[in-house]
Amino acid sequence: MSSVQETAYDPQNIFARILRGEIPAHTVYEDDHTLAFMDVMPQGEGHTLVIPKAPARGLLDAEPASLAAVAATVQRVARAVKAAFAADGLTVFQYNEPAGGQTVFHLHVHIVPRFDGVPLKRHEGGMADPEVLKDHAARIRAALGAN
Ligand code: 5GP
Repeated sequence: MSSVQETAYDPQNIFARILRGEIPAHTVYEDDHTLAFMDVMPQGEGHTLVIPKAPARGLLDAEPASLAAVAATVQRVARAVKAAFAADGLTVFQYNEPAGGQTVFHLHVHIVPRFDGVPLKRHEGGMADPEVLKDHAARIRAALGAN
């Protein structure tokens, strides 16, 4: 039987390092409990990630208050992402453990703007141009400021 305790949180994971400022990220939003930034291998234009600041591997071991903060930020950022890219819709998803497709073991929620007739790109399909990510982050921040 599986347990949420079975695999420990690794504080050296890449998102923990982003939270500590050891690795740069194109940040779009930050508050006391959450951070949102551009995915470096976007599955679509404007692909954004929302993470809690509190350590958690995934959905199962996160504190409910931390999850609630993530949900509120997901909604706030999703609205801005949709507006910034004039998207027709959004795909929001979250993976747990390798069997579930997770590759970075700090809880995160993906927000991907969607356009009628345009399929999602492959998961971790290729690195985006940093200048493009910088521009996209600025567009989302501007939309957040307008909300
Ligand atoms: P997962 O499969 O764990 O849900 O997805 C992890 C996501 O993190 C992937 O979409 C991948 O492109 C993204 N990612 C991996 N390394 C980095 C990084 O160093 N910086 C950023 N911003 N995103 C990353």
